[in-house]
Amino acid sequence: MKIDDKEYCNVCLKESNKDESTVYMRAVCRGEDIHICTSCVPHVIHGSGEIVKSNQEVEKEVRG
Ligand SMILES: [Zn+2]
Repeated sequence: MKIDDKEYCNVCLKESNKDESTVYMRAVCRGEDIHICTSCVPHVIHGSGEIVKSNQEVEKEVRG
């Protein structure tokens, strides 16, 4: 998801400006616009999707 113009992975919470080689894939999960970094994409595809955090959860963890 996007917070303050930075992208955060909805799975591992990796921040876009920490590693410029990371590419974020946009997707829709449970009706929300989410972002998944490339290293988490396989886990999401092969998993049930339950590892994807909701935007509310991500925001809570990122902002503390
Ligand atoms: Zn990730």
